[in-house]
Amino acid sequence: MTVKRDDPGPRRDAPLAIDSATFRSWGHALVDQIASLLDSVPSRPVTPGETPSEVRDALDLNGPLPEAGMDGGALLEETARGLFDHSLFNGHPRFFGYITASPAPIGMLGDLLAASANPNVGGWVLSPAATEIEAQTIRWIAELIGFPAAEGILVSGGNMANIVAFYAARAAQAEWPVRAKGVAAGPMLRVYGSAETHTWIQKAADLSGIGEQAVRWIPVKRDQTMDLDALRAQVDADRAAGDKPFLVVGTAGSVSTGAIDPLPEIAAFCRERGLWFHVDGAYGGLAAALPDAPVALRGLFAADSIAVDPHKWLYAPLEAGCTLIREAGRLRSAFSYRPPYYHLDEEAINFLDLGPQNSRGFRALKVWLMLRQAGAAGYRRMIGDDIRLSQRMAEAIARRPDLELTTQVLSIATYRYLPEDLKARAQEEDVARYLDELNQAILERLQEEGEIFVSNAIVEGRYVLRACIVNFRTQTADVDAVPEISARVGAEVDRAMRAKLRPPAPAA
Ligand SMILES: *Cc1c(COP(=O)(O)O)cnc(C)c1O
Repeated sequence: MTVKRDDPGPRRDAPLAIDSATFRSWGHALVDQIASLLDSVPSRPVTPGETPSEVRDALDLNGPLPEAGMDGGALLEETARGLFDHSLFNGHPRFFGYITASPAPIGMLGDLLAASANPNVGGWVLSPAATEIEAQTIRWIAELIGFPAAEGILVSGGNMANIVAFYAARAAQAEWPVRAKGVAAGPMLRVYGSAETHTWIQKAADLSGIGEQAVRWIPVKRDQTMDLDALRAQVDADRAAGDKPFLVVGTAGSVSTGAIDPLPEIAAFCRERGLWFHVDGAYGGLAAALPDAPVALRGLFAADSIAVDPHKWLYAPLEAGCTLIREAGRLRSAFSYRPPYYHLDEEAINFLDLGPQNSRGFRALKVWLMLRQAGAAGYRRMIGDDIRLSQRMAEAIARRPDLELTTQVLSIATYRYLPEDLKARAQEEDVARYLDELNQAILERLQEEGEIFVSNAIVEGRYVLRACIVNFRTQTADVDAVPEISARVGAEVDRAMRAKLRPPAPAA
């Protein structure tokens, strides 16, 4: 379909406007440059390890806003090079630091394509194709993990996906018009999560006005999962005191160790007490796609809401989070101020009514393209391979006499360097403190050198190193390098630290 136009008359001269030949030339050159740079990533350090001022100096980021413009082609070329030379690459095969995915190439191109059509996915009229693609993407994510979602929305990430579900729970559970009258118009709302729950819960409690002190941090057992008896006792005590328990959060893959709360049991408890059951599956929820998913994960299907993060285990470039809701209408009850919308006599989704955002970008496109390129089978294979690689790493760690494996769940292994002569005394207070400091120093060295990139966690009060694989680019050789490099750097740092310690360090 084309629309006939009159002669446009004299052209306006706009500094950002370019003709299609220039667009082609900039675009082709940029895609070529990105392809070469991506090829070079495995042979680069994971991170350049520079200070903030070094980064500013290298990229010339100290100057004032330029008054005059410049040639866009040269600008893109120079910027692409600078970005690659001074970035940490979460797409590097040896990036094991945080739960941030290696981005899929089709996702990168998807973001370019999305920006080209530039639909505003807040309103159906402004984004007919994009709204329908987002709706299908949400249905597909739910289908992939087997969750019977009636509705959902894409948001910026796991935090927002959890916070959106939190608001849905609050609107559904408060027995007074909490959106109109606020939280002070009713009894104290209470929310429950294990001590390992991600910090989004504090932000949600604060943002929503229920206050951080409304959060009940339920203790964890040795395996870092929620203690159900403690949960039951706390809910009952709060009810007896006149408070209003409304939400229990189960974590499907904790950010520290990948621990999975006993979701089936929490689901049963919530059903019995009429509480909203939300699963924070930002990281691990997508592992429910696997046919051999852990039993604890299975209870995810009974949740009232789930947060999953396409920019984690679906390998989407940042940003993409997703809230899934079991019952239709819950998001509207929490966020809408208008009656349902009809377009040419059909009910149509205005995503601005289902979440906090008004204007919304087309973040669904990259996820939709990736789901189509890999298919469900492709995703099951990639997620399963990440888990097998992590298990392989854990086995290699456990075999070494100078490393101690702490945990291995899903695709996260935690471990520490433990010099052989200190093994027997690792529980003694001064030795335990030394081991914490030692491993902290090892982490700093590892991150600075950039050969592998791991992070840390605190497990049962001990400082441990943490390697996480959400990366379809990671190979067995990359995984095998982790114990080896950790032990080599560990021995070097240990030697240097003991030489400096006075009075003598834990005796050798
Ligand atoms: C990553 C993560 C979050 C936060 O997600 P973002 O995408 O970083 O906002 C929340 N909960 C868990 C369990 C996570 O792993």
